[in-house]
Amino acid sequence: MTAPLPLGATIGIVGGGQLGRMLAMAAARLGYRTIVLEPQADCPAAQVANRQIAAAYDDPAALDELAGASAVVTYEFENVPVVAAEHLSRSAPVHPPARALEVSQDRLSEKTFLNSIGISTAGFRPVENDQDLADALHAFGGSGILKTRRMGYDGKGQMVFRNMTTGGFDGTCASLGNVPLILESFVAFEREMSVIAARGIDGSVAVFDAAENVHKNGILHTSTVPAAIGPETAEAARDAARRILSALDYVGVIGIEFFVLPDGSLLANEMAPRVHNSGHWTEAACTVSQFEQHVRAVAGLPLGDANRHSDCVMENLVGDDIDRVPSLLAEPDVAVHLYGKAEARPGRKMGHFTRISPIRR
Ligand code: AMP
Repeated sequence: MTAPLPLGATIGIVGGGQLGRMLAMAAARLGYRTIVLEPQADCPAAQVANRQIAAAYDDPAALDELAGASAVVTYEFENVPVVAAEHLSRSAPVHPPARALEVSQDRLSEKTFLNSIGISTAGFRPVENDQDLADALHAFGGSGILKTRRMGYDGKGQMVFRNMTTGGFDGTCASLGNVPLILESFVAFEREMSVIAARGIDGSVAVFDAAENVHKNGILHTSTVPAAIGPETAEAARDAARRILSALDYVGVIGIEFFVLPDGSLLANEMAPRVHNSGHWTEAACTVSQFEQHVRAVAGLPLGDANRHSDCVMENLVGDDIDRVPSLLAEPDVAVHLYGKAEARPGRKMGHFTRISPIRR
């Protein structure tokens, strides 16, 4: 067992968005320093970290500088180039492992991995051209969702097909930039949910309660805890999380999104090898937030208790929603968290708030 990171040690964070910001704040609470690697100046994370290295995520000199100055390196987004994670890991421990990035960066390898460890997903087929698309749609009865295999998030780079029994797909792949695609069968889910789980360096695992998620315009709108699911569904989600963490020999926090079918069974949609928007509720409704849990894991500290002390609803503040802050601040039982972004562009996550209430048994 590796010794825990000593007080005052530095944690390197690749990525400077709000997730990095909240990780840096959690690290500071536990007595650690942070350095953020992020090309954009005055990014949300750098506003609260001890230092920023302003360079591209794959700049070898910057990666060497980060690894040289950090006792451990982690990241806040899943599209960190795998070569960058491998480069870093030659001179510093990197958590979560590069393999987790590799698997989750490509929807095809992600679903193949999940199926290989016994976790069900929607049906899927790789699509390289319009003919593949026609064949795959035919196999799925004419309905499906076409997604880019890489770099898709918040519903970007996706096309929905319903009851397409004839052709007419010419030019579809070109319109998505001729990048590798995947067609997923259409899931008639009853609700969407996610679990946030953590695995420590010693292999211990802690799983937060499942959150029920509602999306608006492809962006997470609310996460409600508890989710309206039965105990078997909750246990199936915990079991899936444990399997994924152990198969990847994972260290850190992971977010896993699921579709809940009308019979209560689950299909995994995707996993993010990082802290996750649908886990922001933990900072208001648990003693140890997902951010602190991640810091504890990568620092080799004991994981915190993942039980919640309150029920809650977390809501994202997107674009002009930021104008709601004064009235939210006037409400009791509401914890507001803003990300320090100067400009409220449409679709931009500016902050979130969590409204807590006593646990209903
Ligand atoms: P994703 O980018 O994979 O997270 O997808 C964004 C949203 O699209 C999900 O949260 C679902 O609401 C919806 N969605 C994605 N994949 C499917 C699917 N195979 N069947 C039905 N809805 C889906």
